[in-house]
Amino acid sequence: MDKQTQFVLRSVEERQVRFVRLWFTDVLGFLKSVAIPPTELEGAFTEGIGFDGSSVEGFARVYEADMVARPDPSTFQLLPWRDENDPTARMFCDIHLPDGSPSFADPRFVLKRMLSKAADKGFTFYTHPEIEFFLLKGNGSLLSPEPADTSGYFDHTVHGMGRDFRRVAITQLEQMGISVEFSHHEGAPGQQEIDLRYADALTMADNIMSFRTVIKEVATSQGMQATFMPRPFSEHAGSGMHTHMSLFEGDSNAFYDASGEYHLSDTARYFVAGLLKHAPEISAVTNQWVNSYKRLVVGSEAPSYICWGSNNRSALVRIPMYKPNKPSSARIELRSLDSACNPYLAFAVVLAAGLKGIEGEYPLPPEAEDDVWALSDYERRAMGIGDLPHNLDEAIRIMEESELVAETLGEHVFDFFLRNKRAEFDGYRAQVTPYELEKLLPVL
Ligand code: GLU
Ligand code: MG
Ligand code: MG
Repeated sequence: MDKQTQFVLRSVEERQVRFVRLWFTDVLGFLKSVAIPPTELEGAFTEGIGFDGSSVEGFARVYEADMVARPDPSTFQLLPWRDENDPTARMFCDIHLPDGSPSFADPRFVLKRMLSKAADKGFTFYTHPEIEFFLLKGNGSLLSPEPADTSGYFDHTVHGMGRDFRRVAITQLEQMGISVEFSHHEGAPGQQEIDLRYADALTMADNIMSFRTVIKEVATSQGMQATFMPRPFSEHAGSGMHTHMSLFEGDSNAFYDASGEYHLSDTARYFVAGLLKHAPEISAVTNQWVNSYKRLVVGSEAPSYICWGSNNRSALVRIPMYKPNKPSSARIELRSLDSACNPYLAFAVVLAAGLKGIEGEYPLPPEAEDDVWALSDYERRAMGIGDLPHNLDEAIRIMEESELVAETLGEHVFDFFLRNKRAEFDGYRAQVTPYELEKLLPVL
């Protein structure tokens, strides 16, 4: 038994942990949890806990249903929102097939496989997300949600509920070992942003899953509801998950070059070129819901066109300001991701696109200096700036043709994902919306 496992067993005993929750994520990015008593823990480490994969979204077909969850001891944490006197802990799990091989349906495995491809080239992938979400009044109706406050960007005084929300949430995140770098009220009423301190992509994907849970728990405990829906209000901007990224080779930042433009190395430039070139085909994964595409519209500070710029907030990829004499801070920011993506799959396809750029030494197109939202279609086309897919249907069609995404997700997840998303779009397509009724019924 390794040291980490021994540590977990000892902590469970010393802290008198009552339940251990084993967490994993389905293909759509929903957290799954099974609780075991401490007496079962040793067995969970040695043999895993069996479950019926066919009941988990995207995991297995009925005839190959048996799956085994094996906890990763390095992710052991106590849940801060549970009673301290009767503590509950959690660990993330890797999912295996009964023969002990990793499950091809496990999003955590999809990301691990991609990270090990990067490691073969000498790279570690670091990410740092800015996670936006809305706080809603807890008693509002599903069809007319109400923001929990009336404040705006960077407002200090919160007019409404949730005054202490960020303080409590951040304290709980830190208790779980998740460092927060920055937090503020975002532009829309009820909208919040919390930025997590950078970590390797696997840790960060786990952290994002924990983050969503903490945020929802704290909101509920304060009589509110938190939502990561990409765009819950027609009249306000949506919630993005802009993600800052860099590749390290050992201790040194492979994106940094003292003499490069914006301190970016050739590796960083190829990586960005890879993101731009493959942006349309990875879109269905980075922006996976029908609703995601309502965020990616002009004028909402979310990207709709495929270009890059330094400090250009209308671009898909932004090059943030370099902190003087801090090579580790050289990074790029991808702004398409939204807060409701599956972080494991999204990081996997993003990394795949960037590495393709490095492998193929893709040339980086010229920087878009203007506000690309202000340009006409004609001007943008003349500059070679393409569009992100306009809706989920378009995104799925492009993904269907993508070797890069098929290879990264693996056949099983690729097929499940496309089938599921097609069904989502078809369901949506047949809906008659209040917008149509209001605009059309009186005149047609
Ligand atoms: N809410 C905007 C989005 O959906 C981002 C606002 C900002 O932080 O620049 O991407
Ligand atoms: Mg923001
Ligand atoms: Mg940002």
